[in-house]
Amino acid sequence: MIEAGAKRIAMSDMKCSFCKGTGKDPFGVLSWLSTCCVCNGKGVVDVPSPYKVCPHCAGTGAVKTLTCTACMGKGYVSLPATPVIKCPECRGSGDASSIPSLPCIKCHGRGFILAG
Ligand SMILES: [Zn+2]
Ligand SMILES: [Zn+2]
Ligand SMILES: [Zn+2]
Repeated sequence: MIEAGAKRIAMSDMKCSFCKGTGKDPFGVLSWLSTCCVCNGKGVVDVPSPYKVCPHCAGTGAVKTLTCTACMGKGYVSLPATPVIKCPECRGSGDASSIPSLPCIKCHGRGFILAG
């Protein structure tokens, strides 16, 4: 993910949205005692700044009982260094128009696309 020459970006330790900081699988898919697949049981996730709350899962990290594919369960999506505009396809909701549980194809569920 890190490109050569990319600016060093600050990482924020955020409480894991998927497990709400418990470090445990919130839905007990394998076992209620298994570790959270998003934070590996740490209860916190690294989110590169700047970031915004993920629109597709509304910051919960989960869509139904699945890890949100837009934010990979973190509940936050990182903004690129370049300007972005609200996605015209989903109007920023991050949801596919026909099936809201799927991420918008145009913005990959992030609710924004690169400007220009
Ligand atoms: Zn977690
Ligand atoms: Zn999400
Ligand atoms: Zn979209």
